[in-house]
Amino acid sequence: MPHDHHDHDNHLDPMDARTRALETILTRKGLVDPAAVDEIIETYAEKVGPRNGAQVVARAWDEPDFADWLKRDATAAIASMGFSGRQGEHMRAVFNTPRLHNLVVCTLCSCYPWPVLGLPPVWYKSPAYRSRAVIEPRAVLREFGLELPGDVAVRVWDSTAELRYLVIPERPAGTESMSREELAALVTRESMIGTGLAKVPA
Ligand code: FE
Repeated sequence: MPHDHHDHDNHLDPMDARTRALETILTRKGLVDPAAVDEIIETYAEKVGPRNGAQVVARAWDEPDFADWLKRDATAAIASMGFSGRQGEHMRAVFNTPRLHNLVVCTLCSCYPWPVLGLPPVWYKSPAYRSRAVIEPRAVLREFGLELPGDVAVRVWDSTAELRYLVIPERPAGTESMSREELAALVTRESMIGTGLAKVPA
Protein backbone atom coordinates (compact mmCIF):
# COMPACT_ATOMS: atom_id res chain seq x y z
CA MET A 1 0.00 0.00 0.00
CA PRO A 2 1.41 3.42 -0.93
CA HIS A 3 0.70 4.73 2.55
CA ASP A 4 4.31 5.12 3.62
CA HIS A 5 3.89 8.81 4.38
CA HIS A 6 1.94 7.84 7.50
CA ASP A 7 5.06 6.24 8.89
CA HIS A 8 6.81 9.58 8.90
CA ASP A 9 4.10 11.18 11.02
CA ASN A 10 4.46 11.12 14.75
CA HIS A 11 0.81 10.26 15.06
CA LEU A 12 -2.08 9.27 12.85
CA ASP A 13 -4.38 12.24 12.44
CA PRO A 14 -8.08 11.61 13.11
CA MET A 15 -9.04 12.01 9.45
CA ASP A 16 -6.46 9.41 8.38
CA ALA A 17 -7.58 7.05 11.13
CA ARG A 18 -11.20 7.33 9.99
CA THR A 19 -10.19 6.80 6.38
CA ARG A 20 -8.27 3.66 7.27
CA ALA A 21 -11.14 2.35 9.37
CA LEU A 22 -13.61 2.96 6.53
CA GLU A 23 -11.36 1.30 3.97
CA THR A 24 -11.03 -1.75 6.22
CA ILE A 25 -14.77 -2.05 6.77
CA LEU A 26 -15.64 -1.51 3.10
CA THR A 27 -13.03 -4.06 2.05
CA ARG A 28 -14.30 -6.67 4.55
CA LYS A 29 -17.84 -6.18 3.32
CA GLY A 30 -16.60 -6.66 -0.22
CA LEU A 31 -17.77 -3.17 -1.26
CA VAL A 32 -14.34 -1.89 -2.21
CA ASP A 33 -11.40 -3.52 -3.94
CA PRO A 34 -8.21 -2.39 -2.17
CA ALA A 35 -6.28 -2.74 -5.42
CA ALA A 36 -8.60 -0.18 -7.04
CA VAL A 37 -8.10 2.19 -4.11
CA ASP A 38 -4.33 1.80 -4.41
CA GLU A 39 -4.48 2.47 -8.12
CA ILE A 40 -6.42 5.70 -7.63
CA ILE A 41 -3.99 6.87 -4.95
CA GLU A 42 -0.97 6.01 -7.06
CA THR A 43 -2.39 7.80 -10.08
CA TYR A 44 -2.91 11.05 -8.21
CA ALA A 45 0.19 10.88 -6.03
CA GLU A 46 2.71 9.80 -8.66
CA LYS A 47 1.43 10.27 -12.17
CA VAL A 48 -0.58 13.46 -11.89
CA GLY A 49 1.21 15.24 -9.09
CA PRO A 50 1.32 19.02 -9.38
CA ARG A 51 2.98 18.94 -12.82
CA ASN A 52 -0.32 19.29 -14.66
CA GLY A 53 -1.04 22.51 -12.80
CA ALA A 54 2.45 23.78 -13.63
CA GLN A 55 1.70 23.30 -17.34
CA VAL A 56 -1.54 25.25 -16.95
CA VAL A 57 0.27 28.13 -15.23
CA ALA A 58 3.10 28.19 -17.76
CA ARG A 59 0.60 28.37 -20.62
CA ALA A 60 -1.30 31.16 -18.87
CA TRP A 61 1.95 33.14 -18.59
CA ASP A 62 2.76 32.48 -22.22
CA GLU A 63 -0.61 32.93 -23.92
CA PRO A 64 -2.80 35.89 -22.95
CA ASP A 65 -5.82 34.36 -24.68
CA PHE A 66 -5.48 31.22 -22.60
CA ALA A 67 -5.14 33.32 -19.43
CA ASP A 68 -8.38 35.10 -20.35
CA TRP A 69 -10.12 31.77 -20.88
CA LEU A 70 -8.82 30.57 -17.49
CA LYS A 71 -10.28 33.67 -15.84
CA ARG A 72 -13.65 33.18 -17.50
CA ASP A 73 -14.02 29.41 -17.36
CA ALA A 74 -11.17 27.61 -15.64
CA THR A 75 -12.91 24.24 -15.79
CA ALA A 76 -13.13 24.32 -19.59
CA ALA A 77 -9.71 25.89 -20.16
CA ILE A 78 -8.03 23.29 -17.94
CA ALA A 79 -10.02 20.43 -19.45
CA SER A 80 -8.88 21.53 -22.91
CA MET A 81 -5.36 20.49 -21.83
CA GLY A 82 -6.65 17.06 -20.88
CA PHE A 83 -6.81 17.69 -17.13
CA SER A 84 -10.25 16.91 -15.81
CA GLY A 85 -12.21 14.46 -13.74
CA ARG A 86 -12.46 13.45 -10.12
CA GLN A 87 -12.16 16.32 -7.63
CA GLY A 88 -11.70 18.85 -10.40
CA GLU A 89 -15.17 19.04 -11.89
CA HIS A 90 -15.55 22.74 -11.04
CA MET A 91 -12.42 24.84 -11.09
CA ARG A 92 -11.69 28.49 -10.58
CA ALA A 93 -8.32 30.09 -11.32
CA VAL A 94 -7.35 33.02 -9.10
CA PHE A 95 -4.57 35.27 -10.38
CA ASN A 96 -1.95 36.89 -8.20
CA THR A 97 -1.08 40.50 -9.03
CA PRO A 98 1.49 42.93 -7.61
CA ARG A 99 -1.23 44.07 -5.17
CA LEU A 100 -3.06 40.82 -4.49
CA HIS A 101 -1.94 37.44 -3.21
CA ASN A 102 -4.32 34.46 -3.25
CA LEU A 103 -4.24 31.62 -0.74
CA VAL A 104 -6.28 28.42 -0.89
CA VAL A 105 -7.49 26.34 2.03
CA CYS A 106 -10.27 23.90 2.78
CA THR A 107 -11.51 24.80 6.24
CA LEU A 108 -13.90 21.83 6.43
CA CYS A 109 -11.68 18.99 5.30
CA SER A 110 -9.15 18.75 2.48
CA CYS A 111 -10.87 19.65 -0.80
CA TYR A 112 -8.15 20.09 -3.40
CA PRO A 113 -8.00 20.11 -7.21
CA TRP A 114 -6.66 16.62 -7.91
CA PRO A 115 -6.47 16.80 -11.73
CA VAL A 116 -4.04 19.72 -11.59
CA LEU A 117 -2.25 19.31 -8.25
CA GLY A 118 -2.46 15.62 -7.41
CA LEU A 119 -3.05 14.68 -3.78
CA PRO A 120 -2.91 17.36 -1.09
CA PRO A 121 0.22 17.62 1.05
CA VAL A 122 -0.08 16.55 4.70
CA TRP A 123 0.07 20.12 6.00
CA TYR A 124 -2.87 21.13 3.77
CA LYS A 125 -5.04 18.64 5.66
CA SER A 126 -3.82 19.65 9.11
CA PRO A 127 -6.29 21.33 11.49
CA ALA A 128 -3.72 24.06 12.17
CA TYR A 129 -3.45 25.12 8.52
CA ARG A 130 -7.19 24.85 7.95
CA SER A 131 -8.04 27.20 10.79
CA ARG A 132 -5.07 29.54 10.79
CA ALA A 133 -5.01 30.21 7.04
CA VAL A 134 -8.28 32.07 7.51
CA ILE A 135 -7.59 33.73 10.88
CA GLU A 136 -3.99 34.84 10.34
CA PRO A 137 -2.96 34.19 6.72
CA ARG A 138 0.09 36.46 6.87
CA ALA A 139 1.50 34.61 9.86
CA VAL A 140 0.95 31.29 8.07
CA LEU A 141 2.67 32.60 4.93
CA ARG A 142 5.59 33.82 7.02
CA GLU A 143 6.02 30.29 8.36
CA PHE A 144 6.21 29.08 4.76
CA GLY A 145 8.99 31.62 4.26
CA LEU A 146 6.83 34.10 2.39
CA GLU A 147 6.91 37.66 3.71
CA LEU A 148 4.54 39.81 1.69
CA PRO A 149 4.89 43.59 1.51
CA GLY A 150 2.25 45.45 3.51
CA ASP A 151 0.60 46.85 0.38
CA VAL A 152 -0.16 43.38 -0.98
CA ALA A 153 -3.63 42.23 0.03
CA VAL A 154 -4.16 38.56 0.89
CA ARG A 155 -7.36 36.89 -0.26
CA VAL A 156 -8.19 33.47 1.18
CA TRP A 157 -10.35 31.06 -0.81
CA ASP A 158 -12.17 28.25 0.99
CA SER A 159 -12.43 25.19 -1.25
CA THR A 160 -15.49 23.03 -1.24
CA ALA A 161 -16.61 19.85 -2.91
CA GLU A 162 -18.33 22.10 -5.49
CA LEU A 163 -15.49 24.47 -6.28
CA ARG A 164 -11.69 24.00 -6.27
CA TYR A 165 -9.16 26.77 -6.73
CA LEU A 166 -5.88 27.01 -8.61
CA VAL A 167 -3.65 29.99 -7.84
CA ILE A 168 -1.90 31.45 -10.88
CA PRO A 169 1.28 32.91 -9.42
CA GLU A 170 2.91 35.91 -11.02
CA ARG A 171 5.41 35.24 -13.76
CA PRO A 172 8.90 35.90 -12.38
CA ALA A 173 11.03 38.63 -13.94
CA GLY A 174 13.79 37.53 -16.29
CA THR A 175 11.78 34.72 -17.87
CA GLU A 176 10.85 36.49 -21.11
CA SER A 177 12.83 34.20 -23.40
CA MET A 178 11.98 30.94 -21.63
CA SER A 179 10.19 28.04 -23.28
CA ARG A 180 6.91 26.72 -21.95
CA GLU A 181 8.76 23.77 -20.40
CA GLU A 182 11.32 25.98 -18.70
CA LEU A 183 8.53 28.15 -17.34
CA ALA A 184 6.64 25.13 -16.00
CA ALA A 185 9.75 24.07 -14.07
CA LEU A 186 9.51 27.33 -12.08
CA VAL A 187 5.97 26.59 -10.93
CA THR A 188 5.94 24.89 -7.54
CA ARG A 189 3.02 23.15 -5.89
CA GLU A 190 3.14 25.75 -3.09
CA SER A 191 2.88 28.58 -5.61
CA MET A 192 -0.38 27.09 -6.92
CA ILE A 193 -1.85 26.80 -3.40
CA GLY A 194 -0.59 30.25 -2.48
CA THR A 195 1.82 29.29 0.29
CA GLY A 196 4.72 30.16 -2.01
CA LEU A 197 5.70 32.04 -5.16
CA ALA A 198 7.02 30.77 -8.46
CA LYS A 199 10.76 30.16 -8.44
CA VAL A 200 13.03 32.88 -9.74
CA PRO A 201 15.29 31.56 -12.55
CA ALA A 202 18.87 30.89 -11.48
FE1 FE B 1 -12.64 19.72 1.94
